[in-house]
Amino acid sequence: MAPANKPKAPASAASAAAFPQLIPEPQLVNRFAGAVQSPGEVKLSVNVPGFADDRTCAAFCGLAGTGKYSVQAEVSEDFAPQEVPEDALDEAYQLDIMSEGAVLTARTATGIRWGLTTLADVLKAIPAHGSIPAARILDWPTLKTRGIFMENKWGPDLMELDDWKALVDFLAARKMNNLGISLYGCWDRRQYDGRFTEWLMAPIPDHPEIKREWTIRWYSPEKGAEQQITYLPPMFEKDLFGEIIAYGQSRGVEVIPYVNSLGHNTLIPEFIPEFAAKNEAGEPQHFGYCTSNPDLIKFVTGWYQHIYEKYLKPNGVHTFHIQMDEVGQDFCRCAECSKMSLEQILKDYTVLLIKHLVSVGVQNVVIYNDQFTRHLGKNTLDEAFMQRLRDEGVFENVIVDWWAYRNECTLPDVHPKDGLGLRAWVKPMTCYYNWSRWDPRQRNVAVMLELGHREGAEGAASYSVFDPAWTLEFDALAEYSWNFRGVGPIQRFEDKWGQVRADADVVEAIRWLDATERERLLQVLSYYTYTYEQADKPWPRPYPEEPVVNTADRAAEIAFMARAGARARCLLEGRSDEIARNLIVEAVRLQAHGAMFTVLIEMWNAIAAGSVEPADARVYAPRVQEALDLVIETMVLIERNKPAYLIPSYMRDMSVLHEFLVQLTGDLGEVIEGKRQWSDVRFSVAKNIAQREADF
Ligand SMILES: [Zn+2]
Repeated sequence: MAPANKPKAPASAASAAAFPQLIPEPQLVNRFAGAVQSPGEVKLSVNVPGFADDRTCAAFCGLAGTGKYSVQAEVSEDFAPQEVPEDALDEAYQLDIMSEGAVLTARTATGIRWGLTTLADVLKAIPAHGSIPAARILDWPTLKTRGIFMENKWGPDLMELDDWKALVDFLAARKMNNLGISLYGCWDRRQYDGRFTEWLMAPIPDHPEIKREWTIRWYSPEKGAEQQITYLPPMFEKDLFGEIIAYGQSRGVEVIPYVNSLGHNTLIPEFIPEFAAKNEAGEPQHFGYCTSNPDLIKFVTGWYQHIYEKYLKPNGVHTFHIQMDEVGQDFCRCAECSKMSLEQILKDYTVLLIKHLVSVGVQNVVIYNDQFTRHLGKNTLDEAFMQRLRDEGVFENVIVDWWAYRNECTLPDVHPKDGLGLRAWVKPMTCYYNWSRWDPRQRNVAVMLELGHREGAEGAASYSVFDPAWTLEFDALAEYSWNFRGVGPIQRFEDKWGQVRADADVVEAIRWLDATERERLLQVLSYYTYTYEQADKPWPRPYPEEPVVNTADRAAEIAFMARAGARARCLLEGRSDEIARNLIVEAVRLQAHGAMFTVLIEMWNAIAAGSVEPADARVYAPRVQEALDLVIETMVLIERNKPAYLIPSYMRDMSVLHEFLVQLTGDLGEVIEGKRQWSDVRFSVAKNIAQREADF
């Protein structure tokens, strides 16, 4: 970029030829004669109420040039260009970007919103002393529903109202129009504190006793002390769901609830055992529901109606995701339920919930595919079920959400066409496990959007939490859901992404991080995997001993991890933008794991071979110190660079590495002094900092 004090020069042929790259890629861009230079200020004239507000104008702040640029935006009921598919007209827009000003036309306020978003992106991309060709953009989305689902998990459970609003803005800036928020979900495994992993994000009427509090403890290098928080999710405690929905509506983003309805369900059965699934002896289990119990049906339908009537309906939202995933075969087996097959219980209960929601005003009821297509050993989305939905008058209200998270391909039973004409969404993963490790999913996004396109899905809503280090994945989802062709295959999109959001160095850094992920090695090494109770393993799990034993023959791959992390870090160092600041944490965290496990495996193998002398501890000690320094660097970067709601969970897991390496440093000192045998060097911390409150 030219220095600011340089006199204004005519646009070069190269800059005049270049129209800015945009995410998502517009459908049609026709270049005109004439050049558009960067304005300094935009004068908006919009005939839609609520659009000339501060937030809309703020989108045009920070323009590089000088002078005013007039924007005429108008809703016209007659807007129907022949290129635009009929069912995409409500979000379509036409934008003429000319030298002196722009004209924007759309059929609805939504079209105006997306057109203004595009215009702001274009104007901001014009260099201060350059220009772009005049152009007409005619644009519309490929998919009607484009968004993400925020799982109740580490991070979302600490988000405040402003964080949720910022997320809505992040989606709207990418023309994504859907944000799912989990209100209730549990994992049927004991984790950190020895209890089941459960979250409730909105209070249940008449049941104030049902809640789940968490404690997170970590070591803060910046403060030089342990930190601890005990909390209920702000979303639950302040009952924020309605405010988030209302804010979403004002930004063109429909915020919808996801509520687990049968599986992923331990908290409610714990508080109300008579609702729980029973075994053959009629004893309540710690999970699931007995759907033969009329009181349970009354409770669930009443609760869902409350969610709809309190939060959704007043805001004009009519979509409800009842999940129904991963029940497996763990259904109630009480005397009543045992009279029915699992398939019949599943179908009866699902139809009952759909009918009830539709009867109170919900228009779209979403269910996951897997319980219907996988866990009962066959595809139960059969003709008989379709006929039943038609007979009940709800066939058109049902959407099947088809999920698969692999980077390589979909799963055999994840095909929207197998829904026999039921409406479909596809669900890739955009960001998960971020609290514990680098976990790239942009290829999964491309795979699933291609599947959705091929098999007629109407929406894409990724499985996710939010972390700015995963912006590439969110942008890939925005790209392929708005315009399936996008800029081309995912590798080409990565290059484009670099140009739009960052530069080639950042893309190269991501590729170094991604290169370590192929064998899922970081999943094996990172502490998070060992926070779970596992039937055939000791509890608490010995960490890092368990992964050291499991990877003792993978030293070369682990050493590569350290080098790749170091390389990515070099490419990201010194940058101040949000993406790079979040990515460098990932780079150093990877490097720290690589360095730590490299030296641990060497020591472990040497001890096992009986080939170590006390003096060898002098050789290992500085390398352990190096790994500890990297762990501390990671922790300092987390505290400085990550959003506040991610810091406790990120720090908790790293604190376990820290605590262990400090212990190991002490053990090695004792070996040097002859006070400890090599065979007594400890490879795990009993009751480590993350699990200390657990009552094992
Ligand atoms: Zn039962």
